[in-house]
Amino acid sequence: MSESQTIVIVGASLAGAKAAETLRQEGFAGRVVLIGEEGDRPYERPPLSKGYLRGDEEVVKIFVHEEGFYAEQGIELRTSTLVKAVDPATSQLVLDDGERLAYDRLLLTTGAAPRRLTVPGADLPGVHYLRDVGDADGLAVSIGQASRLVVVGAGWIGSEVAASARQMGTEVAMVDPGAVPLAGVMGPEVGAVFRQLHASHGVDLYLGTGVEAVVGRKVAEGVRTSDGRVIDADLVVVGIGVAPRTELAEAAGIRVGNGIEVDEHLETSVSGIFAAGDVAAAWHPGLGERVRVEHWANALNQGPAAARNMLGARIAYDRVPYFFSDQYDLGMEYSGYARIWDRVVFRGNPDDGKFIAFWLADGRVVAGMNANVWDVTGPIQALIRSRATVDIGRLTDPAVPLEEVAPGT
Ligand SMILES: Cc1cc2nc3c(=O)[nH]c(=O)nc-3n(C[C@H](O)[C@H](O)[C@H](O)COP(=O)(O)OP(=O)(O)OC[C@H]3O[C@@H](n4cnc5c(N)ncnc54)[C@H](O)[C@@H]3O)c2cc1C
Repeated sequence: MSESQTIVIVGASLAGAKAAETLRQEGFAGRVVLIGEEGDRPYERPPLSKGYLRGDEEVVKIFVHEEGFYAEQGIELRTSTLVKAVDPATSQLVLDDGERLAYDRLLLTTGAAPRRLTVPGADLPGVHYLRDVGDADGLAVSIGQASRLVVVGAGWIGSEVAASARQMGTEVAMVDPGAVPLAGVMGPEVGAVFRQLHASHGVDLYLGTGVEAVVGRKVAEGVRTSDGRVIDADLVVVGIGVAPRTELAEAAGIRVGNGIEVDEHLETSVSGIFAAGDVAAAWHPGLGERVRVEHWANALNQGPAAARNMLGARIAYDRVPYFFSDQYDLGMEYSGYARIWDRVVFRGNPDDGKFIAFWLADGRVVAGMNANVWDVTGPIQALIRSRATVDIGRLTDPAVPLEEVAPGT
């Protein structure tokens, strides 16, 4: 692409910021405009439910780039600016102040937003969500003042907030319709490890039941569960998943399903318009299906991949999905994208808090999670990629190096 051309990125968070950085690294000398609705320069969200929420980390540590980076790189960062519309027919964007901005290539990194609880009382003061730094600041103050928190939803955000609140000295209850925390991704065996982890840190778990109402006259005073119990609380945090922010794309006639649909090059159904990060439902050549990954590493890597492809590289994005979480003293990394499996096995004892879990389908590893075991995601991902049938005895034997588990290695 030439110096006279413009690449616009909508969504100034991790995927967008890394894409802008990559455009310059790859030598693009044209105009780069990075537009974001939030007031801050791009920052990382994982600390918001962990160290930042607890007050362990300074704000300065959560930014993607140093202050001054965007100006130095000649990237026009426009914060507090909402893009109202995309017009593919004229290759223009409409901004909230009415300005029309022309682009030659467009990248949509509009991310995701928390799903809202829709039960009676859900709008009462004292019901919190957690997505941005303002939410984290408000929640940190509220947790400091609360005597008892109810977390609705035992997914990643709910589980991490529960852990942080316990570490901050607040009483915590957590409610989820699943039989164990994180049931959808982890399944019963590994979910049980997280149930035990939270229970051992004093979280009251209400599992196998939903929330029917937030109770309270003027402010949230607790929740009523579907099985008829009332859990008293002076603070409620809702973590029931996120929805991709597809509204701009949809209105522009770009194909949208569970996210903005992109091919393996991260290009949408409209030529010249790309999408990456939480919002993108990308065709994954290795998995043979479209996947939308709502995790940090995906935004970190897809942003740059989209940038290179906008410049004409046409590289397929086929990384093994990966995420991490930290709860209390358990740090874990998960690789893979397992939705169907027939067996779960452990290398090491989960009761010791140090182990690797493997999810298998037809004798092949489809996902692996290392908990308090480090520097093993390379071999775990190699096992997943190999699609080799593995010997379970060798897979679960800590004495056999993971690199030597797959046949033929
Ligand atoms: C509290 C929290 C903890 C997390 N912890 C982990 C973790 O431990 N491990 C992990 O792997 N992942 C974690 N994640 C997930 C990870 O942060 C996300 O996957 C990542 O932020 C996705 O980045 P993104 O750039 O795709 O989108 P987002 O971070 O969602 O950013 C999208 C940006 O686009 C802006 N935007 C949207 N529409 C418009 C518009 N029309 N005009 C202008 N701007 C717009 C939004 O305001 C937002 O700033 C966590 C997320 C949260 C919220």
